[in-house]
Amino acid sequence: MTRSALTPLDDALETLLRDVAVIKEVEDLPITAALGRVLGADQFARIDVPPWDNSAMDGYAVRASDAGHSLPQRARVLAGDPPSELPENAVARIFTGAPIPLGANAVVIQEDIPKHSAGRENIQLPTAISIGQHIRPKGQDCRVGELLLEKGRRLRPQDLGLMASQGIAQLPVYRSLRVALLSTGNELVEAGASLPAGAIYNSNRPMLSALLTSLGCDVLDLGIVGDDRGETHAVLERAATSADLIISSGGVSVGEADFVRSAVESLGALSLWRIAIKPGKPFAFGRVSGTRFIGLPGNPASAFVTFLLLARPYVMALQGRRSRGRRTYPARADFQVSRPGGREEFLRVRLRSEGSALWAVPYENQSSGILRSVSASDALACIPRGATLEHGDSVGVLPLDLMLF
Ligand code: AMP
Ligand code: MG
Repeated sequence: MTRSALTPLDDALETLLRDVAVIKEVEDLPITAALGRVLGADQFARIDVPPWDNSAMDGYAVRASDAGHSLPQRARVLAGDPPSELPENAVARIFTGAPIPLGANAVVIQEDIPKHSAGRENIQLPTAISIGQHIRPKGQDCRVGELLLEKGRRLRPQDLGLMASQGIAQLPVYRSLRVALLSTGNELVEAGASLPAGAIYNSNRPMLSALLTSLGCDVLDLGIVGDDRGETHAVLERAATSADLIISSGGVSVGEADFVRSAVESLGALSLWRIAIKPGKPFAFGRVSGTRFIGLPGNPASAFVTFLLLARPYVMALQGRRSRGRRTYPARADFQVSRPGGREEFLRVRLRSEGSALWAVPYENQSSGILRSVSASDALACIPRGATLEHGDSVGVLPLDLMLF
């Protein structure tokens, strides 16, 4: 294949996303069990929050027009008290969260009341009080009917808090996506076992499993599959009956021991791509007996990067999540690219802040087999195809931790 035969990343992604069918089943879950699930229906405000005007501070509920006066304290309102009324020519002691008594239109914080007047005597009010000061008005946070959370949102802790503030105890969420995972390679043994000569430990399995789990998938881990046509065929067939999506690593290059390609082709259809990205050239997509299939490269750094750039947005789409696409943040290149490459490059970088600048500092070895390049990094710096960069130039970075939810 010539260099021009490599598929640009965004074209490959477009092809993937054209083949999406969102999970249909929606279940109701208590909010305490809904963290990380994808919301199956828009959520609107059912009540005003706060439901009534209340005090933002500890102090005195007053009439603003009484500024400069010295008035007795005739009432005391605490959070949780029922609505009350402010007597004429008086102030009410009030605490944070307590409902503003009818007639009061401002709160004077206790720090603004001279100490000697805070005892038995009258309360000496400041000379300037603005209407509404230190009052949290009814509906300030949410008003009945407002759209609070959109369908397709992955629920975060703060979203659950927001729903609880509305009295919503149950949420409709999509069923979790079931992903079958397999690692191919005769050379692989699992961590914990002893390492025979010629073998390496299987690093993709726990890494990909954790990536899927962090995205909220149920992982059906099918373990290691040897480089054998029959075995690969059998495992893929089994995976197809029990999962929404199959993800494998390794075996999708064009080597003699790469059986994934032929197994998928005989069980379904395969679009095998060489993607114009670095790391991560080999990438496969297709169907196994009707079930969607993604074949990631075997080299661990490539598997990681292609997972984030291609498999993740696809998984998110199947889950019903709304994706905002790849969002990069600006940083400054602590490197230079003088020979423009034919592939889009994703350098594994650390982010170092210096004054107001954020520097992208590349890991020293960017080879696709160097797993430490991802473990030691905070972000991927995106170098467009054909770009040259001077030291200090602006470069877009994808923070890794933002991609793990
Ligand atoms: P492959 O794509 O199967 O040719 O694999 C490319 C390289 O990645 C080879 O050096 C493999 O040994 C290595 N590799 C494949 N799968 C894994 C894995 N699960 N864990 C660690 N290395 C792997
Ligand atoms: Mg292999």
